[in-house]
Amino acid sequence: MDEFKFEVDDLYHETRIIHPSALFQNLSNIKDDSLYQKAKADRVAFWEECAGKLDWFKPWDKALVWQKPYAQWFAGGKLNASYNCLDRHIKANLGNKTALFWEGENGDEKSFTYADCYLEVNKLANCLKSLGVAKGDRVAIYMPMIPEAVFAMLACARIGAIHTVVFGGFSAEALQERINDAQAKLLITADGGWRRGKLVPLKTIADAALANTPSIHDVIVVQRADGRVAMKSGRDHWYHDCLRHAKPYCAPEEMDSEDILYILYTSGTTGKPKGIVHSTGGYLTGVNVTTHWVFDLKANDVFWCTADVGWVTGHSYTVYGPMSNAATQVIYEGAPDFPERDRFWRIIEKYKVSIFYTAPTAIRAFMKWGEQWPKKCNLGSLRLLGSVGEPINPEAWVWYHENIGNYRCPVVDTWWQTETGAIMITTLPGLTPMKPGSAGKPLPGIDAEILNEEGQAIPVGGGFLSLTSPWPSMLRGIWGDPKRYEQTYWGRWSGKYYFAGDGTKRDKDGYFWFLGRVDDIMLVAGHNISTAEVESALVDNQMVAEAAVVGVKDEVKGQAIVAFVILKEGNPINAQSEEILKEHVSQKIGAIARPSRIIFTADVPKTRSGKIMRRLLRDIAEGRVLGDITTLADPNVVAALKEKYQEA
Ligand code: ATP
Ligand code: MG
Repeated sequence: MDEFKFEVDDLYHETRIIHPSALFQNLSNIKDDSLYQKAKADRVAFWEECAGKLDWFKPWDKALVWQKPYAQWFAGGKLNASYNCLDRHIKANLGNKTALFWEGENGDEKSFTYADCYLEVNKLANCLKSLGVAKGDRVAIYMPMIPEAVFAMLACARIGAIHTVVFGGFSAEALQERINDAQAKLLITADGGWRRGKLVPLKTIADAALANTPSIHDVIVVQRADGRVAMKSGRDHWYHDCLRHAKPYCAPEEMDSEDILYILYTSGTTGKPKGIVHSTGGYLTGVNVTTHWVFDLKANDVFWCTADVGWVTGHSYTVYGPMSNAATQVIYEGAPDFPERDRFWRIIEKYKVSIFYTAPTAIRAFMKWGEQWPKKCNLGSLRLLGSVGEPINPEAWVWYHENIGNYRCPVVDTWWQTETGAIMITTLPGLTPMKPGSAGKPLPGIDAEILNEEGQAIPVGGGFLSLTSPWPSMLRGIWGDPKRYEQTYWGRWSGKYYFAGDGTKRDKDGYFWFLGRVDDIMLVAGHNISTAEVESALVDNQMVAEAAVVGVKDEVKGQAIVAFVILKEGNPINAQSEEILKEHVSQKIGAIARPSRIIFTADVPKTRSGKIMRRLLRDIAEGRVLGDITTLADPNVVAALKEKYQEA
């Protein structure tokens, strides 16, 4: 993109300000701005104090070594992530505290105390060792959302093996590609997992992937279903058989702070996934403190992050953040609408969930299904709500706040990436007033700026988001591809600043508004128009459940706006609805943002983590061959849309 300017006042944004209640404020972990003050006075010393919340076997030699674009945090310090998530809680007499309440989609239930998790992880760590896995080796994990997925990650961390979790909804091809890229030695999988009433045959899919993965020597298989799967002798081992003979204690490996904890491939919203590398000490510091600050986590909370462990959100805010804080959590295996559309609300009621963290795509689905579903359940245990993954439309924010939070619960809209490891921009629930649709401000110790093409900071206005100083949980590179790391994240301003890839605007109060991926931002008659804002204006209309907007080549205007719209059930698909919606956008943003076409559809292409893939919509609208579709959730959606687009 050559030009990238937003004149703030031109654009529609919400002006509502919502304050947390006095009660919430009085009891919250962060009540004043002293953390911000400390971080401002000495950023590195501030992060050292944060790192001090972890248990270290040996203190670090130097807090930060910054050789652009490579950072080292707390180097020379020795620690172990599984020790920090388990052993130290046992030592603090929390062994009997529930760590995980697990609910299978089919109604199965299990719960694990910290002592139970400790035993499982130690045994599994010993099994891995006996199968020849050593420090630095890669282990792939391809699992349903079952407790063993968490144990597998922590067991790797315990022995210093690098885990790479591949989301259980991915195909054999995607799994194979990731295993080969990481050169994983061992795979941990399951015979199946339940999703929307059907058994996903993970082991069978894994077998197809393993037809061409020479690095894999052994496979450990958890029995989640009936166990009727092919087991290749010499390669495949049942998890329960391995554990039966395993010793109950495995000394945690003393890892350097900079040793790699894991590799995780990004969601693939914008292109080919990148194998993001995370360190041990800096990463754990970031997720540990942000869990405490942002989710206001307390000893008696029941925390539920609905993300799968296959995404970074599951890594940071199911496994390492909450568990290093000794949280009690819920994990759920299946779909939100199985057997009915109230499943999530029933789970909240049943386990008395107090903190609930989910994604805008889910919130928009809840809106579409209607408030009668949450109304049937008692959600009185909730005290805080969170959102992550995409910009949340103000309308969806307000719906969430009202119908799930009953106006009582602050909503934290958390901006971060696989690359950032931990939350970077959000509101602190007991301190910062909320503006629906804005993620808020950078957390203490995080420097974020809006930069223009030349790398100059724009105090108020729109441009490219950049994180301008190194932070502990930042990525340490792209696995096996330092060039791509340097180009993707550091290429834009000749190595000076981190390029996040998101178009963002900062208002006069210092709040950040995410406008969409830089690649998706539209240029209409010389004006940059944000996909997120046009989508939010559409979702603001009561007929609309979801909208995806793209700029399509236009001879006169450069780009014309095409909107793909999903209506709420019961609304008519006709020319009149189209006109109403075009007019609605015009009223909300201005005539310049009026879509030239609206295409009504039942679905839009999404990644397997539920994010809208606008690049594919652009390919469809401009009649191109589709780009990389390996991370697409449902290929049928694109085929149907293509047909529809050509008909219209
Ligand atoms: P890829 O990098 O492969 O295209 P991806 O960017 O979707 O995939 P993730 O790391 O899972 O992979 O997602 C991070 C991105 O999600 C951010 O860069 C941003 O675009 C979006 N995002 C996450 N949280 C928010 C939020 N609260 N508000 C706005 N956007 C968000
Ligand atoms: Mg990305």
